[in-house]
Amino acid sequence: MRRGFKSEAERLATQVRDEMGLGRYKPLNIDALVQHVGAQLRAADELTSLTKLNELEALQPGAFSACTFDFGTRKVIVISPLASNERQRSDASHEASHLLLNHSVKEVEQLGGLSFFTCDPDEEQEANWLAGCLLLPRELLLRSLKRGLDAAAIAEANAVSLQMANFRLRATGVERQAAMWQR
Ligand SMILES: [Zn+2]
Repeated sequence: MRRGFKSEAERLATQVRDEMGLGRYKPLNIDALVQHVGAQLRAADELTSLTKLNELEALQPGAFSACTFDFGTRKVIVISPLASNERQRSDASHEASHLLLNHSVKEVEQLGGLSFFTCDPDEEQEANWLAGCLLLPRELLLRSLKRGLDAAAIAEANAVSLQMANFRLRATGVERQAAMWQR
């Protein structure tokens, strides 16, 4: 990731949450985020049949997680109805992050009769990182730790996976900061 991106993403996530009127400590409201980036949220089975999605999943597990269709004036974020709630939230945040970062849709890939837009690896990394900041801002993590919440409790309170909570706790270095605060 380019230099300075990580702190930029943290600032952008805070700004977006403020603009949404969500603030820094509440669980991310996915519908509001998608609306905020000017998109609509759709489950993939609204666009293709659930049978097709199940076939694709059997063929290549996890092949479809989410994608964004950009029709110029209309943007649609499509998530998988087969994914867990936590996964859907994280996928939708990832897609919204592409839009927030003005990433352009670059390629169309066909898989099992579905069209996918793929991004370049740098943009994927950036979107993943920003999605993490949006779901679990640094300040939210720090306050949660100070209140005695552990990774599992943070994951539960914010409807994210334990893996995501652990990743963000490590990546932000808040554990160290909270330990210092407790001394
Ligand atoms: Zn992506």
